[in-house]
Order: sequence, then structure tokens, then C-alpha cells
Amino acid sequence: MKLTILGSGTSVPHPKRAAPAHWLETSAGVVQLDFGADAAHRMAQEGLDWPNLDAIWISHFHLDHIGGLITFLFGTKWAPQTQNRSKRLRIFGPQGLRNIIEAISDSSNYHLLAQSFEVEIVEVQPASEFEILPGISATTLDTPHRPESLALRLKDEDSKLFVYTSDTGFSENLIPFAKSADLLLMECSFRRNKPVQKHLELADAMQIAREAKPKKLVLTHLYPEWDNVDLVSEAHQLWSGETIEATDGLRLEI
Ligand SMILES: [Zn+2]
Ligand SMILES: [Zn+2]
Repeated sequence: MKLTILGSGTSVPHPKRAAPAHWLETSAGVVQLDFGADAAHRMAQEGLDWPNLDAIWISHFHLDHIGGLITFLFGTKWAPQTQNRSKRLRIFGPQGLRNIIEAISDSSNYHLLAQSFEVEIVEVQPASEFEILPGISATTLDTPHRPESLALRLKDEDSKLFVYTSDTGFSENLIPFAKSADLLLMECSFRRNKPVQKHLELADAMQIAREAKPKKLVLTHLYPEWDNVDLVSEAHQLWSGETIEATDGLRLEI
């Protein structure tokens, strides 16, 4: 698998960090993990084959994670590049996903689900297992962030493990869920003294890393307080494993 970070930031407008969005290429197609408000244009900026995107994962309904999905569907409805597309697009996410897409679509008769190709919305439960792409199995875990928020673990045909926490507070359950991941993409919103419990600060993230022991750790969802801080060296004081600071445009092999 190959991961491209489209957005390593949050909902706070930032000159170098777009809202959360991650492009994951697998042997069975591409799945976009979360759809920040800037994601559609970020895909084009990175030269990615957005008209042929196979699947989308929405972790929860905060607008920095779903805001761009609406504009992407509006884009594919009218863009020349997608008028001849016939391949189905599947959008996976928590219970309530269909309602939020349809409510926005209906608010001004956008008909976002009436495309030249089939759009299938698949709502999944916490602790469920499903196939997100052919041969790529997915497992979910509910996280202490929003009532619907879910972490995602993917396993490909070569048994490579990829785990994406998305936004979450600290939970012991994340440790077995992320155990031995080849790549753990974990939020690390704050440096210390986090103002809310529904996100991680560095010490929380590194406690999970110490116990889950991923082969590679990528810290993302970075609020502007991380600007001008050496995140990697601070992380290394708490765990000696390979830690990478997410940046927009970063590409990683899994
Ligand atoms: Zn967020
Ligand atoms: Zn959130």
C-alpha cells in the first residue's frame, strides 16, 4: 500500500496544513480516508487520479473530515473527467452518513447522488468487519471523540496492516486495535495540557505507540501549536520507534 497525506492539519485554516485527507493506494484500488474541506483540490494538486477513486472512508461527521465530500460529489457530477465514468463509488462511514449527505443534497436540490456512475453509501457499526476494496478487509473501533467516530484498521492481501485512528481521545482499546501495525496513522492534536479530552496530546499518543509497537508511526491532525516545534525529537524522548511528522504531500510505502 502507498499513503499520500493530502491534509495533516485540522479545521483551523493554516498555510501549510490542509484539513484531514489521506489517499491510500492498494493493489485493489484507491480509498480516500477522510475528506477535509480542501481535499478535492489537494488531490488534483498532487496529480492523483481523482476521477477514478474507488472508495471513501469517513471517520466522523466533524466538517474538517467530511466537508470536502460534498464539494467532491458536486465536482464529479459536473467535471468533464467523470462524465464517462461507469465504475461505482462506495462511501463508507458511521451510522448517519446517508442522512448527512442527503440532507445537504436536498437543501438546494443538488442531487449529489445522481451521478453518471453509481454511488453506494455503506454505513458500518463499531467493531464490525467488512471489505472496503476487493481483498482488503477493514475493522472498526469506536473512539471517545464523537458518538459516531470510528478508527479503522485495514489488512491487505500481503497481510500488511494499516491503522488510522482519526480524531480520538485516549482509550486503552486503541492499543490492541493498533498492535503491530505496519503503519499507524495517529492523531496528535496537542503538544501538552490538552484543552479537551476528546483529542490526544503527545504523551497519550506515545503511550499508545509504546504499547502497540507499530513498525512506523505517523503523527497527524496537528494544530498550529505544533508550528516551529520539533515534534519528532519530542516524540523520541517518549518512544524510540520510527516516528514521522505528517506533512501535506508526504508519500509513504506500507
Ligand atoms: Zn478533526
Ligand atoms: Zn473531530
